[in-house]
Amino acid sequence: MSPSTSPSSPWHMAQRAARLNPSVIREILKLTELPGVLSLAGGLPAASTFPVEAMREATTRVLAEQPQAALQYAASEGYGPLREWVAERLSAQGMTHVKAEQVLMTTGSQQGLDLIAKVMVDAGAPVAVETPTYLGALQAFTPFEPIFAGVASDGQGALPEAIARLPHDAPGTRFMYVLPNFQNPTGRVMPEARRQAVVKAAQTAGIPLVEDNPYGDLWFDEAPPAPLASRWAEGVAYLGSFSKVLAPGLRLGYVVAPPALAPKLLQAKQAADLHTPGFNQRVVYEVVKDGFLERHIPTIRAQYKAQRDVMAEALRETMPAGTEWTQPEGGMFFWLRLPAGCRAMDLLPKAVAAGVAFVPGEPFYAHQPDARTLRLSFVTLSPDEIRQAVAALGRVVHQALEE
Ligand code: PMP
Repeated sequence: MSPSTSPSSPWHMAQRAARLNPSVIREILKLTELPGVLSLAGGLPAASTFPVEAMREATTRVLAEQPQAALQYAASEGYGPLREWVAERLSAQGMTHVKAEQVLMTTGSQQGLDLIAKVMVDAGAPVAVETPTYLGALQAFTPFEPIFAGVASDGQGALPEAIARLPHDAPGTRFMYVLPNFQNPTGRVMPEARRQAVVKAAQTAGIPLVEDNPYGDLWFDEAPPAPLASRWAEGVAYLGSFSKVLAPGLRLGYVVAPPALAPKLLQAKQAADLHTPGFNQRVVYEVVKDGFLERHIPTIRAQYKAQRDVMAEALRETMPAGTEWTQPEGGMFFWLRLPAGCRAMDLLPKAVAAGVAFVPGEPFYAHQPDARTLRLSFVTLSPDEIRQAVAALGRVVHQALEE
């Protein structure tokens, strides 16, 4: 596989450039931007939840009180008070071992995925992922040329017995990437007993875990169980993000790295972009330092839960028998499995023609995609639009079954 460079071009690209492919989702999003298309495809948080006023006040305060420090180069680790704040918040959520010194601020948690892969993955080394998993993680890991080991998963997440088989099936697995809370794309949450079993299986197999938790705060009725990182401090690298609780445009996330990994991650971070914008970090610290999230997050939960309920009802009313889904208890996504004979990828152009877009499930699988699956976001459209969009989708699936 060699990157396509025209013979007359002086730019001779690296092999890895051939692995950088356009995101299927981004290509689909282009389609969905056509006028008249109601998109259930995006992974975007609802813009109405962005705390514009709090950001405006905090920005003004930072520029008035600490303009020079905020606009200067800063430490690669991140802004000290924000790292302290993150450590305290995670402690309150069960990760009592976390010290501020372990918190590395990153330019979105997406950068955390890139840095971890850079430090951990050699060409040909196995990396284990859930089935399905976050497409953006597959994209972040792929340039480092891992061999993906898909870990069989059910409605509760990865199967412990499949993790136990990794030393045999994929010897030398560098880490397993896990999303225990309201997974992207399936919306599933890993219950307490499964968390215990997953951590035990990983410990026994000697495989560290990379736990990604951008959606954990977005629960509707009940907080999810404590993170995997609270159960195995040395064996879990934990990624968090401000994207879904404040705003993704800030590009602010963090990695809590065990001591064995932290120094190399920091060096990789330094080499990548010196540091995450100090201005953004200081503004966000000003926003969150006095308990703002404790007031703000419940408003996001209430809004998303109401939208989830509307979509659940619309799906029950319109989808043909044989369509499967479970109701997400948090996060942003429904995951559907269409009746036998339907391929989500083939339905997409018909759906777009009928005025609705979704993301086919296939790109979320490292191997053996389930072509009947698709992902619907319930947070970007209004209740009326959700009803309209799901009704249109229902009609398209009914038609496909009749053909
Ligand atoms: N992990 C998961 C599972 C995600 O869904 C996303 C965003 N779609 C990210 C990481 C990246 O988030 P960010 O870089 O905005 O923190």
